[in-house]
Amino acid sequence: MNCPYCNKEMKKGAISAKSPPLWTTRNKATIFKRKDEISLCNFVGTEFSAAYYCDVCNKIIVDLNETVSYLDLD
Ligand SMILES: [Zn+2]
Repeated sequence: MNCPYCNKEMKKGAISAKSPPLWTTRNKATIFKRKDEISLCNFVGTEFSAAYYCDVCNKIIVDLNETVSYLDLD
């Protein structure tokens, strides 16, 4: 994936966290996501939404349509 800001090739990885990472607008996120929250990994934490990092623009773009297995990460 190329960065939409500078068009440089982005580095593929994943967003990982000890507790299930969520996209949320609430300040009290819980393990069990609500309908308006978006989980960035599967329930057991072995599959993550793909995330691409640009070290020029210092931005990360998460692709919710693509997953990365933790086995494929370094
Ligand atoms: Zn960039």
